[in-house]
Amino acid sequence: ERIISSEVNESEVSFEQSLRPQSLRQYIGQDQVRENLEIFIKAAKQRRETLDHVLLYGPPGLGKTTLAMIIANEMGVNIRTTSGPAIERPGDLAAILTALEPGDVLFIDEIHRLPRSIEEVLYPAMEDFCLDIVIGKGPSARSIRLDLPPFTLVGATTRAGSLSAPLRDRFGVLSRLEYYKEEHLTSIVLRTAELFETEIDHQSAAEIARRARGTPRIANRLLRRVRDFAQVKGDGEIHLSLAKEALELLQVDQRGLDHIDHKLLKGIIEKFRGGPVGLDTIAASIGEESETIEDVYEPYLLQIGFLQRTPRGRMVTAAVYHHFGMEVPAP
Ligand code: ATP
Repeated sequence: ERIISSEVNESEVSFEQSLRPQSLRQYIGQDQVRENLEIFIKAAKQRRETLDHVLLYGPPGLGKTTLAMIIANEMGVNIRTTSGPAIERPGDLAAILTALEPGDVLFIDEIHRLPRSIEEVLYPAMEDFCLDIVIGKGPSARSIRLDLPPFTLVGATTRAGSLSAPLRDRFGVLSRLEYYKEEHLTSIVLRTAELFETEIDHQSAAEIARRARGTPRIANRLLRRVRDFAQVKGDGEIHLSLAKEALELLQVDQRGLDHIDHKLLKGIIEKFRGGPVGLDTIAASIGEESETIEDVYEPYLLQIGFLQRTPRGRMVTAAVYHHFGMEVPAP
């Protein structure tokens, strides 16, 4: 398990739940997304209507599930949660939809993984709040239309590009979550420390934030480990030298990179002269799946300008040579 993995691991599910902000006011950062949602929610409530369907997209761990729950809270309705891979047959989705109460939020995580046959059930449900069901087989088969209660679909995906156009077009609100700025992540660390009842100074919170790859999930996980360290090696309080020592021990460097990132970047430098090199070749050379690199490792490296995508493959930038204290090769 990588400490800086942006994916949630089984053991931290309940820990994460306990940290979820409950309202938009408590939700830190993502200013544009938050401000837009605030207006749309207010307007829908004033008109006593359900909120338009919302698509949240962006890398893992940035707070999509949290936002879906906040939307339901702010609208004062219940939320039903499921995910693309969990819905295998059209009947599964029909069962979920018919059990909704008026106004409910239906949250579908990893919505890009819904099979096409199931997506087609969603279209009339999203557009007209109804369900077309075929009864019987062969020549006697007939289609009946079932009315559904009005509801808000909140879809979350790490790959907006993989969503089919007809599905994407049925969302009224499209919100892209960005990696968090350091100041916002620092506030998230301070908030979590308060919930933990752990003393931490601002500098230490910023140090953790800086190494958290713009991702609240990672920031909270690092804080948890640093807190353990403070408890065992110190008096429980987190100050800068202790935080730095703990983070060194966790092998997360100043930019939030770990040994796998180092292997990936140094591999491109040493084996492929800095690139360009194809994704599959990189994947094979470090023993990872191309998809994992593309979805999980690469987005952050692209974001901080360490990696570049070119038509001929991936290239490391001069910043990587500086980071490793290496000389930038002449072009
Ligand atoms: P995934 O798609 O991988 O499940 P996600 O984008 O849905 O990830 P969440 O589960 O919502 O991410 O958030 C991960 C953790 O980060 C949660 O514990 C949540 O409390 C915290 N978190 C996320 N966003 C914020 C925020 N804006 N303010 C405070 N805490 C946040």
